[in-house]
Amino acid sequence: MESAPLSLRFIIVGGSISGLACGYVLRRAGHEVVILEKSDGKTKTGGSIRSPPNMTRILNEWPGMDTLLRSRGTKCSGYGFRRADTLERVGFMQFHEQIMSELQADFLVVQHNDLCDQLTSLCLGAGAVIKYGSKVVDVKTAGGSATVSLEDGSSLSCDIVVGADGHNSIVRAIMAEDAEEDLESTHTVPGINISVPTKVIEQDPEFSLMCDYNELSIWMGSGSSVVGTRDKNAETFNFSICSLASLDIDWDESHEKKIPLPFDLSGYDPRLRKLIGLASACYPTVHQLYVQDDVVGLDGTAVLVGDAAHSALIHGSHNSAMAIEDAATLGRLFSRLSHRKQISMLLNAYQEIRHSRTSATQDSEYQALVEISIPSGPIQEGRDTALKASLTMDFEDFQNAAGSNNMLVQIWEQYLVLFAYNAIEAVDDWWSMWGSMIDELALDELADNM
Ligand SMILES: Cc1cc2nc3c(=O)[nH]c(=O)nc-3n(C[C@H](O)[C@H](O)[C@H](O)COP(=O)(O)OP(=O)(O)OC[C@H]3O[C@@H](n4cnc5c(N)ncnc54)[C@H](O)[C@@H]3O)c2cc1C
Repeated sequence: MESAPLSLRFIIVGGSISGLACGYVLRRAGHEVVILEKSDGKTKTGGSIRSPPNMTRILNEWPGMDTLLRSRGTKCSGYGFRRADTLERVGFMQFHEQIMSELQADFLVVQHNDLCDQLTSLCLGAGAVIKYGSKVVDVKTAGGSATVSLEDGSSLSCDIVVGADGHNSIVRAIMAEDAEEDLESTHTVPGINISVPTKVIEQDPEFSLMCDYNELSIWMGSGSSVVGTRDKNAETFNFSICSLASLDIDWDESHEKKIPLPFDLSGYDPRLRKLIGLASACYPTVHQLYVQDDVVGLDGTAVLVGDAAHSALIHGSHNSAMAIEDAATLGRLFSRLSHRKQISMLLNAYQEIRHSRTSATQDSEYQALVEISIPSGPIQEGRDTALKASLTMDFEDFQNAAGSNNMLVQIWEQYLVLFAYNAIEAVDDWWSMWGSMIDELALDELADNM
């Protein structure tokens, strides 16, 4: 990537996946970057991230990522669908080799820690500064720049603040207050992530049979569902249990919470209940899905990325992918910056490019959750009958049925739209339409000031 002719000072609030990814691409584009992370940066989590092809493709272009993903990533062969009440396997949406090679990237599972460690070394190698133990408590804007206040009473100034501070983002809250807007929630999805030691599963033939190591295992319940992800490098098999029912539970943010689970799993097959009951750790979550709002604010000095910007389901397949796409988009746009006048245009471009993509992904992910959690009855039976056809359909059958109203083919086509998205091409397409105008505006401004 070329360095931008004009360098800005960015402060990034949050040093997890989206903050680190932004830090790397913005620094690589020639900007000054300081990342403020409230944690000590030492705490390691055992969770796994899904990296669908649209994310893997971006990461593969970053130094060392290809090697990391090859050595530490676990390749997924598809989504395997089972009934939660009987464990019957009713469908398999295979990630066919032919399609994946056209997409030029795999669907992988990778450790959250591994990804964060590699992103951290990319940031530091590129010259970004990361300050741990730095909790941001306020952001103010004046005269085209922003001041970020920290809990310890210190403050820092910059041209642009990037809110990469996750689902409960303080930067987003300050932006919404400034714009006098309320965050409008569409759905609430209570969920639980649990980890079962892999050893426990491997020692029991019954559990080993239930948990396919090569696919994303989905157990479809009545009003809830379980998605199991196996990462060959993790000591645990991770399960996300999501419910569509609202729960009146006072959750805390503790990552140490243990079972019993507050969901009613009585309709699940006893073997699945037993497996879930073996969890060594249990992380409850309540995910609010928001109506997608402006991601640029505070007079054009603040922008949001990752979970702070949108609410791609944390139990879905695209939460981290959206964060990486956001970063790639912002970095690519700001690698073109040559004049201050262009800042607002590039931020608006970011908003325009990302809004439709993240809204569509959020909707698609929620819809997928609804489909795998259909309450028992005729609609659920229709879904299972349609899914069963996938067990005998091969690649040619899918190809021949392209564009038809076959439910399976339609689901697969939806996946492909998500997987085929290329964040860099989206920016380059936008630039080919508007870039010359933006450059001319900057030149006019320069001429006026001479
Ligand atoms: C420790 C951790 C482990 C995770 N493990 C998994 C997992 O195993 N599987 C999975 O699918 N998803 C996981 N996630 C969520 C996943 O990272 C995100 O959904 C997705 O990658 C988008 O990331 P993000 O960087 O936008 O948000 P987040 O991952 O939520 O990161 C936000 C960061 O901002 C920091 N922060 C928040 N407020 C402030 C503040 N006021 N000042 C300074 N810093 C602040 C937080 O400490 C955090 O590091 C995890 C998140 C975290 C924080």
